[in-house]
Amino acid sequence: MKIFCIGRNYTEHAQEMNSDVPSSPMIFMKPPTALNKNDFLYIPDFTSDLNYEAELVIKIKKHGKSIAVKHASRYYDQVGLGIDFTARDLQASLKENRHPWEIAKGFDNAAYVSPFTDIENIEKPISFSLEKNGKLVQQGNSSEMVFNFDSIVSYISQYFTLQMGDLIFTGTPQGVGPVEKGDILNGILDGEQVFEMKVR
Ligand code: ZN
Repeated sequence: MKIFCIGRNYTEHAQEMNSDVPSSPMIFMKPPTALNKNDFLYIPDFTSDLNYEAELVIKIKKHGKSIAVKHASRYYDQVGLGIDFTARDLQASLKENRHPWEIAKGFDNAAYVSPFTDIENIEKPISFSLEKNGKLVQQGNSSEMVFNFDSIVSYISQYFTLQMGDLIFTGTPQGVGPVEKGDILNGILDGEQVFEMKVR
C-alpha cells in the first residue's frame, strides 16, 4: 500500500504558504508506516510546530498504470476525510535547504483517515471541514481543487503503478494550523462527522 499526497492543490492554501500553484500536480509520498490506525496522536518530540491539513482522500480499487483522465474514475470509488500531519518547523528548514521534506511529513502516524464512504453516496461537489476544539478551522470543497480526482489519478499513474488499497491525499484548503496536547480535531465530510481525533 502506498500513500500519495498532493501539495498546493487549493489556490488560497498555496498563497498562505507563500507558494505558487504548480502547473502539474505536485506529488509526494508517505510510507505505509505513516498511517495512523488510532483516533489519537502523540505529538512527536522532534517538532514544536505540528500542523493539521484536512484533505479528501481517495482509495484506489484496482491495479493501473498510464491511466487516461477519461478512464480514471474507474480506479477509485471511495472517499474519506484525512489529515496530512506536518512538522511545519522541520518542513520549513528542509525547504530552506532545498532538501526533500520526507521526515516532516512521512513520520510514523503522520497520515490519518476516517472510515471510507462510497463516492456515489456523497453529494458532489464534496464538502468537508475541520473543527479544532469545536471551532471551525478549515472548510473545503472538491470544486475548489486545482487538479481534480481524475487528473490526479491519471498523472500519478504515468509514473507509479497504482495498486488496490493505495491512498491519495488530494491537498488541503486554507486554514492549516498547529495542534497542541489536549486538542480535539473533528472531521466533517458531506455534513456528517466522520472522525474525532485526540492530540496527546
Ligand atoms: Zn497536505
